[in-house]
Amino acid sequence: MSAVLVVHGGAWAIPDELAPVSVQGVKAAARHGSSVLRSGGSLVDAVEAAVRALEDNTVFNAGHGATLKIDGEVQLDAIIVDGKTLAFGSVSCVKNIANPVSLARAVMEKTSHVMLTGRGADKFAESIGIAMVPTDKLVTECERKEWEKHKKYIAAVNEEFNTQWAHDTVGAVALDSAGNVACATSTGGTRHKMVGRVGDSPVIGCGAYADNISGAVSCTGHGESILKVTLARLILSHVEQGKSVEDASQLSLQHMGDRVQGAGGAIVVSPSGQWAATFTTKRMAWAAAEDDVLWFGIDPKEKLKEKLSL
Ligand code: ASP
Repeated sequence: MSAVLVVHGGAWAIPDELAPVSVQGVKAAARHGSSVLRSGGSLVDAVEAAVRALEDNTVFNAGHGATLKIDGEVQLDAIIVDGKTLAFGSVSCVKNIANPVSLARAVMEKTSHVMLTGRGADKFAESIGIAMVPTDKLVTECERKEWEKHKKYIAAVNEEFNTQWAHDTVGAVALDSAGNVACATSTGGTRHKMVGRVGDSPVIGCGAYADNISGAVSCTGHGESILKVTLARLILSHVEQGKSVEDASQLSLQHMGDRVQGAGGAIVVSPSGQWAATFTTKRMAWAAAEDDVLWFGIDPKEKLKEKLSL
């Protein structure tokens, strides 16, 4: 079986001027994650590396480029899951950490817990030597302007958030040639969110899930809706009942739309090598490295390909 690595850069109404850089960013992250896997790295190494590349890219709302919460500060969430053992680590409401996915991995590997939040997570980061990065280094001028522009209209923003506003959470799912799966998700969350708000991304079974029995998923979209339907597990439960990963994603996203009027997207890979990138928002930038091909797209039904050069 071939190894596969799929990434997404968030499901939302990506404006035309951001489309090319978003596609470039996901392609570069998929190449990077795939090269880690091909050079002998573990699956967890590969999804972490792909998500770190997306966190380091200011085009996406994770790590550098994160959105600002209501008080003008950043507050980041991330998770990483190993489908072989069901081990996972997640962090929520962390401040000023450039690569929250690596902190989530440290929670998984260096503590006896699975989730750390807020001040405790920040203190843990400090204790293992992860540097605190000043807000100004993480936040782009463009995000600061958007935050300023919209802060007067917070009520309107919250209403419109569901489909229109920046949801560029990032994520990766991967499969190795032995049929093991893993995934990771990282986000700055929603712009103008309340201090202490936790979205779906760091919550197991909601923003991500991986199990060698059924597959790995990373979600993006309206966090409150994703949490209500436990989207990642919902997709995998459809896969367990015999649906293809594409149908399972579509049915689950459709259910989220019908049941709680939420929009979003997901990337999925199954232990047999099926994969899909599906969304109900206007756009979602995604890329998938499989054999010698790099698949990618941003608009609905778009599936382009080029030779994968690592
Ligand atoms: N799901 C994320 C959240 O609600 C947002 C996103 O996907 O961009 O925090």
